[in-house]
Amino acid sequence: MTEQKPYRVLLYYKYVHIDQYEEYAAEHLAFCKELELKGRILIAEEGINGTVSGTVEQTDAYMEYMKKDPRFHDTFFKIDEVDQHAFKKMFVRAKKELVTFRLEDDIDPNQLTGKYLSPKEFHDALQEEDVIVLDGRNYYEYDIGHFRNAIRPEVESFREFPDWIRENLSQHKDKKILTYCTGGIRCEKLSGFLIREGFKDVGQLHGGIVTYGKDPEVQGRLYDGKCYVFDERISVPINHTEEDIIVGKCRFCGKQEDRYVNCANPECNDQMICCEECETEHQRSCSTECREHPRNRYVKELPVLNG
Ligand SMILES: [Zn+2]
Ligand SMILES: [Zn+2]
Repeated sequence: MTEQKPYRVLLYYKYVHIDQYEEYAAEHLAFCKELELKGRILIAEEGINGTVSGTVEQTDAYMEYMKKDPRFHDTFFKIDEVDQHAFKKMFVRAKKELVTFRLEDDIDPNQLTGKYLSPKEFHDALQEEDVIVLDGRNYYEYDIGHFRNAIRPEVESFREFPDWIRENLSQHKDKKILTYCTGGIRCEKLSGFLIREGFKDVGQLHGGIVTYGKDPEVQGRLYDGKCYVFDERISVPINHTEEDIIVGKCRFCGKQEDRYVNCANPECNDQMICCEECETEHQRSCSTECREHPRNRYVKELPVLNG
């Protein structure tokens, strides 16, 4: 056992009806601020979704608070031990939906969702013949790491999935389909949508990629590359076996690379996979226009870098 680190990152969600969710969001924010947690929490009529960082004591107190609330008492917290906060500020936002397809009638995962598969069950199902593995995230998350043989969805946001699925997967309704995402929240709706579209055998990775990476038996073995996360770490390792590899490629030189940087043009700020040499050469800019932008942050940092 390694020594416990001083901080933690919690990742969690719960689909449950929240009355007067806007008022509740304000109350929740006040509590988080009092605790001095940092992170991002969404609160909607359909539930809560959060990722927060804090000390062991702060995160314990937060989980305690959640468990005392009958709406959230059985929330499953995925816990990462870290050396420092993974966020700079604390946000709690009231939103219409946690994740959205923008469909006229949205999916309620408490009514309709795919079969929950444990990491081991998912791991075994991945190795069956003729199974379709659909990544339930955006393409830029897929690009630094994904399950072996998973389909890369050509979507930039979750709401693009329904059209993309209708166009690309309709002929496979009789096959077994497996979905996964970072922590599980998106697949709850995605797998429900697949069932409603007529897919007959739909399974979802319960607890998502991060849970798969922590499972002592599978140890992340069939996941290639890193897992994109929505905090300052940007990505985390999942595969703890000797099969761990890098799957990303530098957008400039094509070299194997899994570091994401943000374009130095603050108006662009696009995330791109970029190696260190190319970061210097292209001044961390995704295009000539961005490099020449008057507010280019990389150019501003230069005098500091040169001492
Ligand atoms: Zn490069
Ligand atoms: Zn740019």
